[in-house]
Amino acid sequence: MSTTQPVNPVEVARIALKRLAERGLPPTPENYAQFYNAIVTIKSPETKNSDELQHAWQILVKLDDVVSDAQETTQELITALSEGGEKMNGSLGALHDTRQAHVDRRMTVEEAHSVLEGLLTELIDSTSSIHGAVSASSGDLSSIRDAVKHIEEDLAFNRKMLEQDALTGALNRQGFDHVLAREVKRALRHEQKLSVVLFDLDDFKLINDRYGHLTGDQVLIHVTNLAKAVLRESDLLVRYGGEEFLLLLPETDVNGARYVVDRMRTVAHRTPFLHKNQRVDVNFSSGIAELKADENGRALVLRADEALYRAKHSGRGRIEIAT
Ligand code: GH3
Ligand code: MG
Ligand code: MG
Repeated sequence: MSTTQPVNPVEVARIALKRLAERGLPPTPENYAQFYNAIVTIKSPETKNSDELQHAWQILVKLDDVVSDAQETTQELITALSEGGEKMNGSLGALHDTRQAHVDRRMTVEEAHSVLEGLLTELIDSTSSIHGAVSASSGDLSSIRDAVKHIEEDLAFNRKMLEQDALTGALNRQGFDHVLAREVKRALRHEQKLSVVLFDLDDFKLINDRYGHLTGDQVLIHVTNLAKAVLRESDLLVRYGGEEFLLLLPETDVNGARYVVDRMRTVAHRTPFLHKNQRVDVNFSSGIAELKADENGRALVLRADEALYRAKHSGRGRIEIAT
């Protein structure tokens, strides 16, 4: 968040009272304290706060506004319809009475005619006021629908940001957790292969030490781009840790996964990272595991991790396949 001013208690109190009133809640000390604290937490720079949280709060406020607009609109529509309906019923009743009076000869043709004219005018007024209310509401409703659509887009964007690694744009751990179970389920249901590759850059600390942390960051972005160049549309690239990445490869067996790793190595060799026109060679060790029929995603990743551990400890720059 960019603001660093302290929280203004008067402003917080004003917002808290407004929120209570909007929700029709009595301003009891408990209710008040609850809202006050919620607002302080959200507004205070030191108690939060990522941009994501701020963004999520803005969406909530917008959603709140839209819901109360929608409630107002439907309430206005219901009132207009029921008032219009009552008036029409009254007019129709009077119409019926007039006809009966004419049949019973309690009213002359001229009298009945003039009463009928008045009643018809009333009926036309009622229908046109109902029509007006419905048209106004449908305008309101379509602007509410647009607002909801924007909120949906905001939420989708917010979610994407939360599930993406800020440096490389790869999926982060949270995003991966979100898709892993789904991909495993899909593979098992369609009896398709699914492989996981975990790879960790070798001696990355040396790269940081030699060229600086910022260059280290650039190397991580470079590695992400190399991986993306090799992967298929349906493959997933995850930044699993600092300099550790995970590939989730649907419809791919161990041999396919090994081919992907070899391709990455070839591409990395052909397009090295350049620091002041000098190539910086980046090597990595990898562990590969293919999904078993009775396995869940966690177990699959664990086996790839064990394989990676073996690759590291048998000399680095190697590929190990999980048993
Ligand atoms: P090994 O071959 O055993 O994997 O050695 P290593 O040096 O790659 O592994 P180690 O775990 O000793 O060090 C990892 C280094 O990666 C240390 C850490 O500062 C660095 N690192 C982690 N995340 C980032 C990052 O986002 N940017 C940069 N520049 N460096 C990072
Ligand atoms: Mg490493
Ligand atoms: Mg590591």
